[in-house]
Amino acid sequence: MTAPGVQLGRRGLFALGAGGIAAATLPQAARARERTTARIVIAGAGAAGITMAARLSQRLEGARITVLDRRERHVYQPGLTLVGSGVWTPEKVISTNAQWMPRGVAWIREAVAEFDPVGNKVVTDTGRQVPYDFLVVAAGIELNYAGIEGMSEALIGREGIGSVYAGPEAAAATWREMARVAERGGVLLHGRPATEMKCAGAPLKLALLSHARLARAGTRGRSEIVYNAHNDATFSVPAIHRRVVELFGERGIRINYGHVLKAVDPGRKIATYRTANGEVELRYDFIHVVPPQRTPAALRNSPLAWQSGPLAADGWVEADRRTLRHPRFPNVFTVGDATGVPRGKTAATVKKMTPVATDNLVDVIAGREPRAAFNGYTSCPLITDIGRAMLVEFDYEGRLVPSFPFVDPLRESWFGWLVKDQLIHAVYEAMLGGWV
Ligand SMILES: Cc1cc2nc3c(=O)[nH]c(=O)nc-3n(C[C@H](O)[C@H](O)[C@H](O)COP(=O)(O)OP(=O)(O)OC[C@H]3O[C@@H](n4cnc5c(N)ncnc54)[C@H](O)[C@@H]3O)c2cc1C
Repeated sequence: MTAPGVQLGRRGLFALGAGGIAAATLPQAARARERTTARIVIAGAGAAGITMAARLSQRLEGARITVLDRRERHVYQPGLTLVGSGVWTPEKVISTNAQWMPRGVAWIREAVAEFDPVGNKVVTDTGRQVPYDFLVVAAGIELNYAGIEGMSEALIGREGIGSVYAGPEAAAATWREMARVAERGGVLLHGRPATEMKCAGAPLKLALLSHARLARAGTRGRSEIVYNAHNDATFSVPAIHRRVVELFGERGIRINYGHVLKAVDPGRKIATYRTANGEVELRYDFIHVVPPQRTPAALRNSPLAWQSGPLAADGWVEADRRTLRHPRFPNVFTVGDATGVPRGKTAATVKKMTPVATDNLVDVIAGREPRAAFNGYTSCPLITDIGRAMLVEFDYEGRLVPSFPFVDPLRESWFGWLVKDQLIHAVYEAMLGGWV
């Protein structure tokens, strides 16, 4: 496991956002280790799964921790917007899960095909049964490109289609398409899906970064940039929405409200949007497609998903929004993007969720009531230009919860950019190691 290149105190640095620095929990090292022989299965080895494996192995002595994930490659997803705008190379966001897997943790390189919380086991895609005493769900999000007619991942990087969500290669291909349009100018379409999604700030950042690229290329004057919001706001937190409207206004980025991408026609370069007044067709030279998002099928089809309510449709995992414990299956906790709570779905959220879920799981193992509470902390530095960003951080109630009292969260700053470009990657890696 590689040690991060930074030294971080208890209050840490920016929490990949920031509020994680205000974590109310004691540092791991200061805690007495709990003795147990419990079998703990962690489904998913992304940001949340690896961090949980690290934290739990630091806190527990004798536990048998098993991580399940078929994926070998680890992607630092918060860097994808920087790859998609030509600021970073794709190599910068790629590492391996082997590099981060904590010592003493068993890693089964198979995906969970079935969650059986009644039988306290998971079944993998090779048919292997893995029983557990406690389960941590950390299987993230499935990108549903097929949910947009005419769209597939294979189209990214062709015919003016970009999408940084699909990974480092797709983000690099997105940048190539954006750069091509920046050479001569054109119509650029941005937007987001109507589903829950990871990093809801990313589509806004891409719109602002495309403006920056066109302005630098001298082609902004003969271009049109449009942001298609899925409902009546650009962002779910009113203060941030109002600020985004201002920023877009200053840059001449037009906003269409209530436009949900239904289909793309790469041959004609036409995007079709569902609106309250019927379907609308928009021509483009470049489109940044953000696919509808849901949990992986094994989770969606399992009893762990919400059975009713707004989070049931796409299979988000039911959880008490404070303790992150499953209300119907009390030996199950959930962390990361798959978690069915309002807000979240950022790596910064993972940094705040994982100490809470660890504390609570350790309490339950020790026969205590879980006491730690997650406050909905969500953050994703809103890049507004190459060299400027806003450090927006908020909680369940939509209150802004800045980590740096001296930085206005709604003001673009070079400091915000520095945090995004230089600092957060190191904090992320320290998080994977369970150090912050
Ligand atoms: C374009 C983009 C920009 C972003 N920008 C930011 C940002 O600026 N700031 C920020 O904080 N966050 C940002 N994020 C969000 C952040 O990357 C995610 O919130 C974070 O990675 C969530 O961690 P996770 O472990 O829940 O999911 P992931 O890290 O995606 O990991 C999920 C893991 O589960 C595995 N899995 C899936 N199905 C199964 C199965 N059936 N069995 C076993 N394993 C399974 C997958 O293989 C994967 O390894 C961004 C994301 C994207 C895509």
